[in-house]
Amino acid sequence: MEEVIRSITDPEILSQIERVVPFHGYLSTGVFVGIQIYDIARRALGFSEGERLFVTCETSSCLPNAFQVLGGCTIGNKGLRIENLGKMAATISRRAPRGAERVNGKRIVLDPAKTASYPRVHSWYMKIDKVPHEETISDLIRAEDGIYTWRMVDLEVLEKPETRIAVCNSCGESFVLQGDERSCKSCAQRSKSKIEIGSAGIR
Ligand SMILES: [Zn+2]
Repeated sequence: MEEVIRSITDPEILSQIERVVPFHGYLSTGVFVGIQIYDIARRALGFSEGERLFVTCETSSCLPNAFQVLGGCTIGNKGLRIENLGKMAATISRRAPRGAERVNGKRIVLDPAKTASYPRVHSWYMKIDKVPHEETISDLIRAEDGIYTWRMVDLEVLEKPETRIAVCNSCGESFVLQGDERSCKSCAQRSKSKIEIGSAGIR
């Protein structure tokens, strides 16, 4: 892997790798795809580092970690959403101007029609064969943004819902209300599964 990293001449990508690796644990192919998707979004949307960003990742594997480190998009600050569709794709947007109801974003996907020209990364992507990360990443470096497809998407700016709190009548803990339920989700689920276990016991 060191040899592959040494072949990278862009100091920007090298610094991104340096920051992402300790967080992710190692340089995986998926997290490198995340770095490339982040960079395409940055060029297309023109945001600068440290700016508030929002990303929806269509996979929970690897890719979100690049956005957590480089874009500061986390689950806790609501900058990161994961809609696990099992796709190597992400939609990125900047913060909408105050009062705006819509905002432009970019959806970027690793395109199988394009990876077909890069056998090692294609093989990894389509799970045709086991390919070492060193080999897939050197394909990704060569391909740059030539294996991605992106388009502008029109996104709805969601209103922040008002939070209402209740105390569960079963466990006494407080929780965020979804509707007008009386007990928290865990107590509701527990009593539901008791009923299911009970009826299974009869059989
Ligand atoms: Zn409860």
